[in-house]
Amino acid sequence: MFKAFLIKYGEIGIKGKNRHLFEDALVHQIKYALKPVDGEFSITKEQGRIYIETLGDYDYEETMESLQRVFGIVGICPVVQVEDEGFDKLAQDVIDYLNKRYPDKNKTFKVNARRARKNYPMTSMELNAALGEKILDAFPEISVDVHNPDIMLNIEIRGKINIYSEIIPGPGGMPVGTNGKGMLLLSGGIDSPVAGYMVAKRGVKIDAVYFHAPPYTSERAKQKVIDLAKIVARYTGPIYLKVVNFTDIQLYIYEKCPHEELTIIMRRYMMKIAEHFAKETGSLGLITGESIGQVASQTMHSLAATNEVCTMPVYRPLIGFDKQEIIEVSEKIGTYETSILPFEDCCTIFVAKHPVTKPNINIIKRSEQKLEEKIDEMMKEAIETAETIVVEAE
Ligand code: ATP
Ligand code: MG
Repeated sequence: MFKAFLIKYGEIGIKGKNRHLFEDALVHQIKYALKPVDGEFSITKEQGRIYIETLGDYDYEETMESLQRVFGIVGICPVVQVEDEGFDKLAQDVIDYLNKRYPDKNKTFKVNARRARKNYPMTSMELNAALGEKILDAFPEISVDVHNPDIMLNIEIRGKINIYSEIIPGPGGMPVGTNGKGMLLLSGGIDSPVAGYMVAKRGVKIDAVYFHAPPYTSERAKQKVIDLAKIVARYTGPIYLKVVNFTDIQLYIYEKCPHEELTIIMRRYMMKIAEHFAKETGSLGLITGESIGQVASQTMHSLAATNEVCTMPVYRPLIGFDKQEIIEVSEKIGTYETSILPFEDCCTIFVAKHPVTKPNINIIKRSEQKLEEKIDEMMKEAIETAETIVVEAE
């Protein structure tokens, strides 16, 4: 019954001259989200509103699911749009709407009329009263409740007239593309896809980097990361994923440095390489899935040691989350099932039995001096041979 949707978005932070940037980004992301959906859509901006009109048949469920992944959308209202052909016609359209949408009339309602076009011959109050009366006449079982109605019947008088009574919640946040770009360190685990999702929700476009260590990590482990990026891309739009061959660096560290420091030193080189790509491609910060105390490499001491090599901000949106809370988000966004597939990522292979939990930065730096001979060359090689994959949502 619905041929159009009215999109509600948050007003905060989009006042003034940035408003059109916000709206344009939202329209762009809506188009991207609807691309794989069965149906054809036309999206228009109009007086602080975004409308999606459907051209021909479309899949309602799929459309709704896709729109619920677009950051910046606060509510999705399936709307019936009618021409203004006088009050009697409007009353009839409203009655038709209620008939189709609510076969069971044993409900309470309230009319909430608003005029964006002030030359309409009735005031909002007059419309509320007159339409309410027509509805009560048409349906004996229905009754009015102005405080807590089952049906809040919105009537908006604009160029056309909008009739709607449902606001399906969107994900909130800001449209991707309104807040710069960040470089996500994406592993095959549970945490980093959630971290990417959370930062993207604030309007940040996401690039990603994955470090693999063939033959110690398999093609399937890499495919798993690509699959995770595909799921995250449903929310963020296409993700440019750098796949870095980290094997030689890892082996070299393994050969030269104390094994209990291995993870920290590896992490530091990952950060350096990630930062290189971030600078090269215009990202303004790094993003990781770290959370305080989750494992030895994520104690406050370890995070300080990892962070010490970075010159850009490192965003760790999961920093205060328990694992269970992270899992809940990953289930909600659809990455969990893929994350728990059993393909090893490069860190588990070289993991020490007793990793340091309180690394001392000076000691770590001294260990790293043993790498001086070859490490710069190896980093250069890793950067130059990195593969770039453009990951689209599927
Ligand atoms: P995740 O579930 O995201 O893998 P984790 O709990 O396994 O996290 P670690 O393995 O300690 O934690 O990794 C911490 C963070 O470092 C990850 O969230 C991710 O951002 C980054 N990271 C770890 N391994 C890799 C990798 N192979 N490639 C890219 N980033 C990585
Ligand atoms: Mg991991």
